[in-house]
Amino acid sequence: MSSEVGTDWLSRPKVTPALSRAVHDRDGHRRPDAQLSLGQDPDTQVLLVTEDYLVPVGEPDGAPTLQFRRGDTVGSDPADWAYLGTHDGVRYALARAGRDLHADQWLSLREIGAEVSDLDAGLLVEAVGLAQWHDRSKHCPMCGALTELRDAGWVRHCPVDSTDIFPRTDPAMIVLVHDGADRCVLGRQSVWPTDRFSVLAGFVEPGESAEQAVLREVFEEVRISVTDIQYVTSQPWPLPQSLMLGFTARADGDQRLHVDQVELVEAEWFTRAELRDPDRTRPKLPPPVSIAYQLITNWLGAAPATATRT
Ligand SMILES: [Zn+2]
Repeated sequence: MSSEVGTDWLSRPKVTPALSRAVHDRDGHRRPDAQLSLGQDPDTQVLLVTEDYLVPVGEPDGAPTLQFRRGDTVGSDPADWAYLGTHDGVRYALARAGRDLHADQWLSLREIGAEVSDLDAGLLVEAVGLAQWHDRSKHCPMCGALTELRDAGWVRHCPVDSTDIFPRTDPAMIVLVHDGADRCVLGRQSVWPTDRFSVLAGFVEPGESAEQAVLREVFEEVRISVTDIQYVTSQPWPLPQSLMLGFTARADGDQRLHVDQVELVEAEWFTRAELRDPDRTRPKLPPPVSIAYQLITNWLGAAPATATRT
């Protein structure tokens, strides 16, 4: 993945987030009547997803590549499967499977999401998101009855009260707070590896806009106020069902950070030079599969802007 960035980092991403590269057609209008019989269809390419959301991966050309199976080799129709869409005339689906089936490797979205092709990335993130939803919606939220999978894996139906349950996505915001000049705020959660820092993030609450969530989360986590909140880009994060909405926001760099010790255990202002230093041991930055990496890379790639605070 390219790390090329321009000078207009505040308003536009120069690199598409790793998990936002989908190129296939989701073909949603065919879901309600899809007569896909996985166990008999040699023309459908099936991605197996294990109970812990690993997928089969090979490395034919040195880069990780999803290993699909022909529909007629996955055995009788699996109970949990879903139609993912089409690309270049090929139909794709997911099916649940155990790790006992042969594969070169079973790997996770975190491990390969930034390295697979655009086509694989789109299918992978959709498959993992749907598999997560299948696992979390086995029971009707109204009456608790077991639900039935319908519409090619895109609806769970309650046979008792006829409730239809659709896949859900939870909005979360993630924000690079900068001082309008050469510093940005990075924080560390207690569960992260030592010296791993990232930008601030949190879920959008009911009745709240994404921008309000930025203001609230930044204040809750480091007790500073921000202005000039700008939307940058978004990325699905289906672990289990988030959509990360990426922002930048500006804070007066004279404000001291007070870490809440609940969500974060450390937070600091870092300069571009500190983050660009290849010999640094601290901070370690988030991996390329994350939108946080994208926000930080965009900010680092720009020439230090003139301070605009008034
Ligand atoms: Zn029900």
